[in-house]
Amino acid sequence: MPANYHTHTPLCRHAEGEPEAYVDAAIAAGHTEYGISDHAPQVPEPYDDWRMLESELPEYLRWIERARAHAAGRIPIRCGLECDWLQNCEPWISDLASRHEWDYLIGSVHYLEDWDFDNPKWLGSRWAESDVEEVWTRYWKTYTDMVESGLFDILGHPDLVKKFAHRPAGDLTRFYEPVIDAIAASGSVIELNTAGWHKPCDEAYPAPGFLELACSAGIPLVISSDAHTPAEVGRDFPRAIALAKAAGYRETQLFEKRKRRSEPLP
Ligand SMILES: [Zn+2]
Ligand SMILES: [Zn+2]
Repeated sequence: MPANYHTHTPLCRHAEGEPEAYVDAAIAAGHTEYGISDHAPQVPEPYDDWRMLESELPEYLRWIERARAHAAGRIPIRCGLECDWLQNCEPWISDLASRHEWDYLIGSVHYLEDWDFDNPKWLGSRWAESDVEEVWTRYWKTYTDMVESGLFDILGHPDLVKKFAHRPAGDLTRFYEPVIDAIAASGSVIELNTAGWHKPCDEAYPAPGFLELACSAGIPLVISSDAHTPAEVGRDFPRAIALAKAAGYRETQLFEKRKRRSEPLP
């Protein structure tokens, strides 16, 4: 099984499980490498209730050390963060990048200005009042800004905006093409994130059509489960591998100290 780099810890307040249990699950799933990338701190604090605090970064690194000690060479343990792309966040991301010798940083868009649109608490209010076409337009503009920042090794769950099955009418390629051009120019890697199969959208992130365009554009790929419990660690990897191959992919990517190399898909 390919490496699995997008996974969480209880420090984000909405994941559970001990490091030993996550590592055991990664070994059982047969991943070549296991990476931890919890929701990064965000200033000003408290920014929201679904991430670690800045003061918890040392505890986060100790959690990863526990995972590495338990793995004891049986599987490489990589160390990352899932960072939020926000307006004017560049200095903060650079600051976070300097705090540790990370193996990779994932960039994710969970916010459109002050709205964490993937939080189910907004389903009856802000989502209900929103024009889906307009939200998608803002989302992809924001995502493209993140890509063009060049601050991230891996671009997280590319079409997360569809999480609750809000999709504009018609062919969605019009949203995909500009961002794919930007990703190809940036040299960044996208993830195929299996969590979407367990959300109302009932589709991995990104959609198959996006994945095919990305492969044609030469954009490299990682596969990740976005696990928030040990039971979710290897979830849907065979299905994701089949999807990646159908889109034309033959390899995925490995990261160490922010350097990338490839491994063939099984
Ligand atoms: Zn999370
Ligand atoms: Zn995320």
